[in-house]
Amino acid sequence: MDFDQHFRKALAQLKTEGNYRVFADLERQAGVFPRAMRHGPNGPVEVVVWCSNDYLGMGQHPKVLAAMMEALGKSGAGAGGTRNISGTNHYHVLLERELADLHGKDGALLFTSGYVSNEATLSTLARLLPGCIVYSDELNHASMIQGIRHSRVEKRIFRHSDPTHLASLMAADDPGAPKLVAFESVYSMDGDIAPIAQICDVAEHFGALTYLDEVHAVGLYGARGGGISERDGVASRVSVIEGTLGKAFGVMGGYITGDALLIDAVRSFAPGFIFTTSLPPVLAAGALASVRHLKDSQVERTRHQERAATLKRMIAEAGLPLMASPSHIVPVLVGDARLCKLACDELLEQHGIYIQPINYPTVPVRTERIRLTPSPNHTDDMMRDLVHALREVWRRHDIRRAAA
Ligand code: PLP
Repeated sequence: MDFDQHFRKALAQLKTEGNYRVFADLERQAGVFPRAMRHGPNGPVEVVVWCSNDYLGMGQHPKVLAAMMEALGKSGAGAGGTRNISGTNHYHVLLERELADLHGKDGALLFTSGYVSNEATLSTLARLLPGCIVYSDELNHASMIQGIRHSRVEKRIFRHSDPTHLASLMAADDPGAPKLVAFESVYSMDGDIAPIAQICDVAEHFGALTYLDEVHAVGLYGARGGGISERDGVASRVSVIEGTLGKAFGVMGGYITGDALLIDAVRSFAPGFIFTTSLPPVLAAGALASVRHLKDSQVERTRHQERAATLKRMIAEAGLPLMASPSHIVPVLVGDARLCKLACDELLEQHGIYIQPINYPTVPVRTERIRLTPSPNHTDDMMRDLVHALREVWRRHDIRRAAA
């Protein structure tokens, strides 16, 4: 086989569709986020980042940096092994305790990323239960979809955030079959929020386990940053709450929390947990400081919500096609993959504004968009510059008309 030709063809297809991903070469700079240096064809240039998932700027928080520096000096670079073979560091143990407490559960388990936590947990849990049926929201993240696929159990897809459809699917199945409902709290591309209580009502009625991805909500919602399930007072009704340490907490890693027995089962049977080097202690230490800080401090959460509301207002007032979102995520519709990429290229090259275009398959065709994530560190001036630049690019390319 001519391998090169095969790869070239696959990539050419992506490029034709306008879906080929080009990475921005960024140099983050602690202390001045959301400003960063971008290494481009003419050397490094300062840009303002508008699409980071370091939602609260915790990646540069003094307490987080101090904890990481201390841990680096004390414990060195890597973990030195899998969790079972010399790789359980005291920071891991402390962090798991902290996360269990954050969600009001008696067990927690760390993974190297949120992706791995979803893939490893869902594939393992479903496989452990003979005849299990998984009910998955149609907009679930790729990591959940992969986990469910790898479990090889029966699955049903329910309409997005639709408890009535979920109930009708569950009612049609064998009442004796073990069931698991997998969904998210904040959906990251539209910014909408799941009706957790109603989904739990249905799951409880059918005796099902619930698995909730709170990746885009932990640290951001609830009095202690426990996510939407904390905000809505329903955390105790959810069997497994999953989160990331890489977004609002500003570091890296993923985790699940739940009943100790269930967590012990995943710990004991999930290949994605067992057969991999554990998180470096320095990351666990940074995440620990971040989680602890956000349990006590409301300053970041309050300012974050205010910034998101202000940006939404400014975009709407400028007549730009803001997509409705009840959360901190601010999507603006473009509706065409090529224009979306072109707009982002121009914002970067001509205005020093970095936004990654969101195209298919991340979102459906004709809903291509820019996805803005204002943080507490984005100033009014930055917002004014952004809105001004968006209006200019929109006008230059007649975007709404061209996309229609
Ligand atoms: N779950 C959702 C809903 C996500 O959007 C993401 C990542 O963007 C993940 C899980 C994976 O988390 P992580 O980035 O920690 O791997």
